[in-house]
Amino acid sequence: MSNDKDFDFFRTSEDHEELRAAVRAVAQDKIAPHAAEADETATFPQAGYDALVASDFHAPHIGQEYGGVGADALATCIVIEEVARVCASSSLIPAVNKLGTMPLILAASEQIKAKYLPPVAAGEAMFAYGLSEREAGSDTASMKCRAKADGDGWVLNGQKSWITNAGVSDFYTVLAVTDPDGKRGSNVSAFVVEKADAGFTFGDPERKMGIKGSPTRELIFAGCRIPGDRMVGAPGEGLKIALATLDHTRVTIGAQAVGIAQGALDFALGYVKERSQFGKHISQFQGIQFMLADMAMKLEAARQMVYVAAAKSERGDKDLSFFGAAAKCFASDVAMAVTTDAVQLLGGAGYVKDYPVERMMRDAKITQIYEGTNQIQRIVMARQLLKA
Ligand SMILES: Cc1cc2nc3c(=O)[nH]c(=O)nc-3n(C[C@H](O)[C@H](O)[C@H](O)COP(=O)(O)OP(=O)(O)OC[C@H]3O[C@@H](n4cnc5c(N)ncnc54)[C@H](O)[C@@H]3O)c2cc1C
Repeated sequence: MSNDKDFDFFRTSEDHEELRAAVRAVAQDKIAPHAAEADETATFPQAGYDALVASDFHAPHIGQEYGGVGADALATCIVIEEVARVCASSSLIPAVNKLGTMPLILAASEQIKAKYLPPVAAGEAMFAYGLSEREAGSDTASMKCRAKADGDGWVLNGQKSWITNAGVSDFYTVLAVTDPDGKRGSNVSAFVVEKADAGFTFGDPERKMGIKGSPTRELIFAGCRIPGDRMVGAPGEGLKIALATLDHTRVTIGAQAVGIAQGALDFALGYVKERSQFGKHISQFQGIQFMLADMAMKLEAARQMVYVAAAKSERGDKDLSFFGAAAKCFASDVAMAVTTDAVQLLGGAGYVKDYPVERMMRDAKITQIYEGTNQIQRIVMARQLLKA
């Protein structure tokens, strides 16, 4: 028999839905108006950042003990989803603050956490994540960036490629080889590097297809000396920490993908009800209705998968690797399909910059590539399946 409690079964809580409404209001009022300009001019969405900081949505995952709001993994996904619905570039502010700090949250000493998490929680600094290199993208273990012990510190030499929010962030988790003769995968350590550290500079901003408001640059280390107490976790544990981080943060990329797709579907729904051809609103054609139904169906399946994966991230379930990879892979493929269909539903108007769907289609593409391409996600999923 059902009782009142049963009606709460398997749905997001009231708190989560209240949060969604609050983020949506900020996104609509303060972030959406600048989204096209951030894309057009490839400039960091400062207004979006300020609005996110003012409402505590810029790094919601940071715990209260470090001055954060302590949002759970699902709440963090809802923030990212709602921001991505209007501006994918701005959604990388909470998403990459989580990506950059997650290695600290998972593995750093209390001293490092107490030093670096509060400024991020306060909106005074952002945190980026440097794993990929030009010649070591999917094959992260083949990285060359080197950290050599030197007295009581470390000296970094090498580069990291395609780093999101590079230059605008003050702090960086950087993965570097500390034992060049050591076993592949176990010879890498994680460090915090500060923007102000001598010997640390940035490459020119990449000229990208989408997420143009989010700066992507190389990190360049030339004799960059950092103190010994900047290591995150134990020596040789770096890659393990970096990959454990991705288990959690791929879920947030799934949320970003869901948000981008929802933005495109919402816009297309409005358009087909207004646009007339053959003497009717195009929404009256069954061919159009079937497209809309398919888009919404796929999107809802992606959202449910992301939310289930977020719950697993929050609980630290053993099968998180599978679910994080599956949610990111599925949701990003859905985002690409839904945004492409949204462009189709607008016809010629979809292909020009007068409407946001062409930006959303370009923005969606990156979700199939970063934090591991969707081929790599399938490798992660298969590995977990075959281990069982
Ligand atoms: C805009 C942007 C932002 C990014 N932000 C960050 C960031 O903040 N931090 C960071 O560390 N990195 C970041 N990246 C890097 C990103 O994670 C890598 O680009 C990605 O992991 C793929 O690596 P790659 O580009 O070297 O591609 P490659 O590894 O060269 O892959 C090329 C193709 O081969 C496929 N492939 C590779 N290996 C296999 C295999 N074993 N089986 C089947 N197919 C395979 C890939 O799926 C892909 O289709 C970013 C990239 C971009 C473009």
